[in-house]
Amino acid sequence: RAKAEGRNRYRFFEPAMTVAARARMALELSLRPALAREEFELHYQPRVDLRSMEIVGMEALIRWRHPQQGMVPPQQFIGIAEETGLVNPIGRWVLREACRQTRRLIDEYAKPIRVSVNVSARQLAQPGFAAEVREALADAGLAPVALELELTESALIEDLERTAAMLGELQALGVKLAVDDFGTGYSGLAYLRRLPIDVLKLDRSFVLQDDGRISAFDFVKAFVDMAHALQMQVVAEGVETTEVLDFLRAASCDEAQGYLLGRPLPLAELRKLLGSRPERSAVLAA
Ligand code: C2E
Ligand code: MG
Ligand code: MG
Ligand code: MG
Repeated sequence: RAKAEGRNRYRFFEPAMTVAARARMALELSLRPALAREEFELHYQPRVDLRSMEIVGMEALIRWRHPQQGMVPPQQFIGIAEETGLVNPIGRWVLREACRQTRRLIDEYAKPIRVSVNVSARQLAQPGFAAEVREALADAGLAPVALELELTESALIEDLERTAAMLGELQALGVKLAVDDFGTGYSGLAYLRRLPIDVLKLDRSFVLQDDGRISAFDFVKAFVDMAHALQMQVVAEGVETTEVLDFLRAASCDEAQGYLLGRPLPLAELRKLLGSRPERSAVLAA
């Protein structure tokens, strides 16, 4: 019976499945040697203080220069890397590279630049993760306060007991801890009381609704005030318009990132931005 039923399915679904599965397998196979072949690079998106409008930090975002497919965005391979466990060596490389490059930028521009690094659930679950972070900082000569780790809500609540212990170790190192994409998952604040979180990164959809309209001001303002009362900083992601920027400033949001303020840039281009005058580096006229 499976055969009779499966026959029609076979004709309609199998070819598409095979194409997708093959593309995925090919990507997985080329992902394995990509680290050794030095095919990854970090781009950096500026993070701006909403009072001074100056660049105070940046988020490291991985890019894969695939020999055949060109630039592959993280959403196409981080999932595979997580499933295969490759995200551990890749994440370790990201951490070390980000710390090393940030230390150099601080030396070159004599500015207190901070860097944010995205950490996947699987990395956080490694017992030796805090030691890995400590080594990356020490080898780069970067002060712990200059490093922020971005964790997603799903990674945090997966195993709250273990997460709390790991975050305690990381906090003891002196690094900053941020919840990434806040507002897309559980959005509760209750679990945050049990974790040493310093920063909430509001997802774009927190401020901008599906219909493209800005959320209710009182709601966002009350939320920011509550985060402040809990000693957390609030950073908005995905700011694309001056309308949203003005809204966030009025709501006393602390910092922001977004295409309006600066796209993720290769290191050489970030250098130009850091080297320019503050009023230009905040690219508001753009
Ligand atoms: P994320 O950490 O939430 O990063 C923000 C994403 O939004 C980035 O996409 C960034 O380019 C994009 N973005 C920035 N400004 C705007 C804007 O104004 N509008 C819109 N629509 N988008 C904006 P990207 O670089 O493609 O990264 C996607 C996701 O991949 C990241 O989301 C993060 O979850 C993951 N990722 C990136 N690098 C790493 C990494 O080194 N390790 C791990 N584990 N994950 C990473
Ligand atoms: Mg992030
Ligand atoms: Mg984010
Ligand atoms: Mg996001």
